[in-house]
Amino acid sequence: MDKETKAYLLSIGTIEMPQAVDYGQSSTAGPSAGGQSIFFKSGERLVRLSVVPASPLRLQQTEDEAAVFRGDEEIARGHLLQPLLHCPEQAYLTISERCIYNCKFCAVPKLRGSVKSRERVLQMVNEAYSSGRMKAISLTSGVEIDPQHEAARVAEIVRDLKRFGVPIGVSVSPFKGVSGILKEAGADEVKYNLETVDADLFSTVCPGISLDEIWEALEEAVAVFGRNKVCSNVILGLGESDRVMMRGIDQLTEMGVLPVLRPVYPHPLRKGEIEMTRPGAERLLRLSTYLRRSLDRQGLRGDQALTGCYRCTGCDLVPHRDL
Ligand code: SF4
Repeated sequence: MDKETKAYLLSIGTIEMPQAVDYGQSSTAGPSAGGQSIFFKSGERLVRLSVVPASPLRLQQTEDEAAVFRGDEEIARGHLLQPLLHCPEQAYLTISERCIYNCKFCAVPKLRGSVKSRERVLQMVNEAYSSGRMKAISLTSGVEIDPQHEAARVAEIVRDLKRFGVPIGVSVSPFKGVSGILKEAGADEVKYNLETVDADLFSTVCPGISLDEIWEALEEAVAVFGRNKVCSNVILGLGESDRVMMRGIDQLTEMGVLPVLRPVYPHPLRKGEIEMTRPGAERLLRLSTYLRRSLDRQGLRGDQALTGCYRCTGCDLVPHRDL
């Protein structure tokens, strides 16, 4: 599939399945937390689609091939990849599947899931490692008590996981000094999500969280981990304009941060809370192309990310991998 086809599939984001594909795990991270999804690879490009009862897209599968159809029209042909933990080639784990915050696009506070112990994480990563397919570890976490307590917990786990000898990426709610704690524990890359670069929208979308504190933590993270080692999710489809988005992209890349342009997934558990409009293929392509140029201007490379979403590429058009 070419980048235009991937952009189209991402703009839909869902797929109907004739028969369930049971990978024995439902995602606790990423846009459609709590649901099933598939990873469809065609050529060099990969796309993750959430499995829903009704979608404009449907999957047709044979022994070793799969194809995506819209009505009777074949959109792309390829095969399904099996996720290792949450996504292919990575042990991507959510430590605290619950959160004290209440970001209006996120299902985690509604799902109120469990908190994984160090032992449980070690066991899960060990199983992933034994598969021989594990190329990286990515840890993310809601905030069970407060960001400081969460960072200390995740830092302990990072120390445990260094024994596997693969890159480790961490995504937590940031605060001043958090990057030093994670670096000291052995993390290689971090992700602190801005969620939106539109300051007017932020207070509605992420009540109780400081946007300035995230910007400051990103600056500190680049100082600690280096340029091209820090990412930030910026959601597309919360009502932000392209002008504000482009200005935010440039601000991030000038700092040495890799923005993850994430199409919004209007999670059913968040129905009606805020405006959420999944961006069309044309807008996804336009802004991802702008991002590619902005990264090139700053000498940053998407294909040098060792962990997380820039490595996975399932939910986004990733510069230097997809375009
Ligand atoms: S792009 Fe990120 S959120 Fe999406 S499946 Fe891959 S690792 Fe998960």
